[in-house]
Amino acid sequence: MSDVLYVQKGPATLTEMSSEDVREALTRSDVLLLPVGATEAHGGHLPLGTDTFEAREICRRSAIKLAELGCPVVIGPVIPFGTSSFHMGFPGTITLTSETLIRLLKEVCLSLYTTGFRKFAFVHGHDGSLPSMMVAAQDVVDATPDAQVMCLNWLTPLSKVYATIQTSKKGEGHGGEGETSRLLVTHPEITHPERGIPHHLDPEVMRKIQGPEHIKTGGGIFYATRSYKAHTPYGHIGDPTLAKEETGNKGYDVIVDWISTVVKRDYFG
Ligand SMILES: [Zn+2]
Repeated sequence: MSDVLYVQKGPATLTEMSSEDVREALTRSDVLLLPVGATEAHGGHLPLGTDTFEAREICRRSAIKLAELGCPVVIGPVIPFGTSSFHMGFPGTITLTSETLIRLLKEVCLSLYTTGFRKFAFVHGHDGSLPSMMVAAQDVVDATPDAQVMCLNWLTPLSKVYATIQTSKKGEGHGGEGETSRLLVTHPEITHPERGIPHHLDPEVMRKIQGPEHIKTGGGIFYATRSYKAHTPYGHIGDPTLAKEETGNKGYDVIVDWISTVVKRDYFG
């Protein structure tokens, strides 16, 4: 008998639906949440698909919450690749060029537009893909008479409450306490906090990676990222040994509250 690596909970994404299922869903809603993941190193304690799993889970929970609010949406397909150039120092990482990611997202949306979807919300699992996601969003709007596209950067609301959710008093980032906690919620079988080695960055370096001034966490400066390998020999930033499922669920609650509020307001009036 083969091993079960992890269990995937529904609702189904577009990949797992039939065309008839989608036709029926389109009679109730033309809104699609698009999870944009990545395949990149997050330290020895997390799988390479961490960002893909997170993006799917955020969309899954948001879809459930939105359905409860009377706002049905379709999820997916889950995009497993992003622009991960600065993680290429670690084996297994796959990166698309920004041109490829922009084109991929644009062609996925235009296909779905052709068969009836009109409102798209891009949800990242990896903030490094945000610049390309924003360009693709504008391209889809430019290529259609009436598509609406938005990019939802949940790092901004989450980073405002990091200090109240996480136990670490140091800078936790990529693959650190928060992200490891979120993976523990969905993929405990392939998440290994006990293998994590605490590694924190100099505050000045951390400030440029995800300080409050960075545009991805709500500030006004975009610092383009150079190789992570220069900052961390392990591929992650923070202390994964502090991760707890409860912390992960608190993080997801903040993210999902924000996304469902925005999607309800902007796409369902
Ligand atoms: Zn990640």
